[in-house]
Amino acid sequence: MRIGIIGFGAAAIGFIERLKDSDNEIHVFERSSDVHRSSISGIRSDGKLFVSSNMGGDIEIPLRVQESVVDFYLSKLLPEDRRTVRTGVSFDNKGFEPVNAKYWHIGTDKLSGVLQEVYSGFSGYQNVQFHFGCEVKDIELRADSVILSGEDFEAACDTALLAVGRSGHGLIRRTTQKYPEIVLSNNTVDIGIRYELPDHVVQHINEEMYEFKVRLRTGTGYLARTLCNNPSGVVVLEDYGDFVTVNGHSNSAFSSNNTNFAVLCTTSFTEPFNDPIGYGSYISRLSNILAGGRKVILQTYRDFLDSKRTKRLGRVHPTLPESNFILGDINLVLPRRITLSLTEFISRLNEVIPGIGYDDNLIYAVEVKFCSNKLSNNAFERVKFMGDCSGHTRSIMYATSHGALLAERFL
Ligand SMILES: Cc1cc2nc3c(=O)[nH]c(=O)nc-3n(C[C@H](O)[C@H](O)[C@H](O)COP(=O)(O)OP(=O)(O)OC[C@H]3O[C@@H](n4cnc5c(N)ncnc54)[C@H](O)[C@@H]3O)c2cc1C
Repeated sequence: MRIGIIGFGAAAIGFIERLKDSDNEIHVFERSSDVHRSSISGIRSDGKLFVSSNMGGDIEIPLRVQESVVDFYLSKLLPEDRRTVRTGVSFDNKGFEPVNAKYWHIGTDKLSGVLQEVYSGFSGYQNVQFHFGCEVKDIELRADSVILSGEDFEAACDTALLAVGRSGHGLIRRTTQKYPEIVLSNNTVDIGIRYELPDHVVQHINEEMYEFKVRLRTGTGYLARTLCNNPSGVVVLEDYGDFVTVNGHSNSAFSSNNTNFAVLCTTSFTEPFNDPIGYGSYISRLSNILAGGRKVILQTYRDFLDSKRTKRLGRVHPTLPESNFILGDINLVLPRRITLSLTEFISRLNEVIPGIGYDDNLIYAVEVKFCSNKLSNNAFERVKFMGDCSGHTRSIMYATSHGALLAERFL
């Protein structure tokens, strides 16, 4: 069978690893010019691996499958680098709902070596062909094949696997408009901020848990949660093409004296509204407009509480370069229900971890996680979705495992 995979990210890796020595002919179409370049992806920056049954996605992935994925990625590290991988277990914390997970943190600096090893390993198989610099713009279902087409290429395959992650939302939008029966549901998007504070405030938590994940049902009814904690990390822009948002990562060697993490609210909608991606994009764009271009807004926690534009920063210094933000008022961007949820979350967390609510701590907006369109793998025999673009995963571990599980159907 000729299988076309669109996108070379975590899900594709899980899939190819299972099928690399089968009789199937696998063609990978990746829009980036080489294996290391990609607009956004945790498989290229940060690299935290979590084994958990309650975070990372909403499909059931057996723990043994997740653990084999960890072994796979760690086996691609040099022996000396393997020793620098931080690892640990999350734990319960006073009233907040804990999210239990075992984790391994590879770090941005070591990831490119891991990815290179993965890629070199796959390239040794004759039935696996990589086509870099090929952005698939359209897929067309025919009776006996699927046609993938881009600016200057066209390819026919028996089955197309879309594994374009979150950054491939353009292709997913076009495909679901063309074949609406693929969409199972689409009503949620996670919207919030990136929070940055001095390492010493959360030092004991970072040492004991490294990645603290907690969630809270706030008074507004929204579920707020922490995500992607980066001890001694840096805040970065996430480029969605027509707008930018904020994100964070850290190296195994550590690069700052600050810790950053996301605080996100899960927003969901009821009929007639059915465009959560449009909603998240609109709010992100608004922050860029107010920031005067491809920038995000930065505010101190005190000014955020007082709804005052930040004019001067205090004792916490931002790790995001100055050219990427403007000091402003995030209250002009986020809907009230989200700001109320965020302030309640942070002030209650401050009771558990004193210093979290320190006036000079920094808030960057907007951070958005588009993970809402849940797509069906049963609508068409010849078209499948794996990883984050399927709406069922949101982590390296779940996306890779999703690819691996889907591959088993082809064995
Ligand atoms: C900055 C950042 C840090 C993160 N850190 C972590 C972390 O530490 N731990 C964790 O578990 N998760 C993390 N994540 C989330 C994680 O990266 C994703 O959940 C995971 O990579 C999803 O895998 P995927 O295969 O679905 O998509 P991706 O890994 O995103 O791969 C999609 C690929 O498809 C390509 N592509 C997109 N559109 C097209 C097209 N039209 N044609 C051809 N190719 C296309 C992209 O270039 C990309 O290479 C992070 C995300 C970001 C943005």
